[in-house]
Amino acid sequence: MREDTMEFEGQVALVTGGSRGIGRAIALKLAAAGCDIALNYRSATREAEQVAERIAGLGRRVELFQGDVSDPDVPQAVFTGVRGSFGRLDVLVNNAGITRDELLVNQSLKDIEEVLATNLVAPMLTVQAAAPLMLRRRYGRIVNISSSAASKPGRGQSNYAAAKGGLEAFTKAMAVELASRGILVNAVAPGVINTEMTDTIRSHGEEEIMRRLLVKSYAEPETIADAVAYLASPRNTYTTGEVLHVDGGLKMA
Ligand code: NAP
Repeated sequence: MREDTMEFEGQVALVTGGSRGIGRAIALKLAAAGCDIALNYRSATREAEQVAERIAGLGRRVELFQGDVSDPDVPQAVFTGVRGSFGRLDVLVNNAGITRDELLVNQSLKDIEEVLATNLVAPMLTVQAAAPLMLRRRYGRIVNISSSAASKPGRGQSNYAAAKGGLEAFTKAMAVELASRGILVNAVAPGVINTEMTDTIRSHGEEEIMRRLLVKSYAEPETIADAVAYLASPRNTYTTGEVLHVDGGLKMA
């Protein structure tokens, strides 16, 4: 479906973790509004190709960039590929993320390091790689996908909460560094969204989650994509360093 407004026409967005879930919805939303898409994913090649087919069907250009962003060499390699293919980058969405929920006393160092590497270090390295190109063009919109767990962690989420809390602090720090060159940096903090990531907690913790939600339902990935699209768009001229909670009121409970 094409959007009424093609506000991203002529722009290029890099979306990390775009083969499934929220990243997939963000890539499709931006493409429907006129954006060409560089789509990163880790291993789900078939799913990524299906997203690419949908984007091409919308009349947009799309390139796939496979790579595990938790490997510190990958963010720069992905960005080099994007610059080579498209020559510009207007929008960066740091969406790739993982959980390894476990009480801290039972967490391995690997659980801690992988969660921090994917959810926090990878977005930092991706911004570091992409910012010079945005700085030269004096335009950019960066949206980092955080989580309500950063401000209201559940049991067993210490590694994830620490990573996403760090990502929110990083978002603010980048807003300070980049605003003078026309680059706005924000975060979106989803609550419980209907994706594979939440299969287990939705099936085992439904009663507890529904008790904490003011809006008594899970959201679909498209709801998060709507929020991201606004912050990433040229319509956003004055919001930076903000964390937009899209969580059905979860954080209030
Ligand atoms: P998902 O359904 O598990 O999908 C994760 C996506 O990220 C997949 O495309 C996956 O690629 C990719 N990915 C994971 N690790 C990667 C890596 N190291 N390098 C490159 N790509 C990687 O997750 P989701 O629910 O859509 O979550 C997306 C973001 O929203 C994450 O940052 C998550 O923390 C955040 N979030 C989600 C919820 C929720 O309720 N779902 C709530 C709060 C925040 P492959 O398919 O190739 O594995």
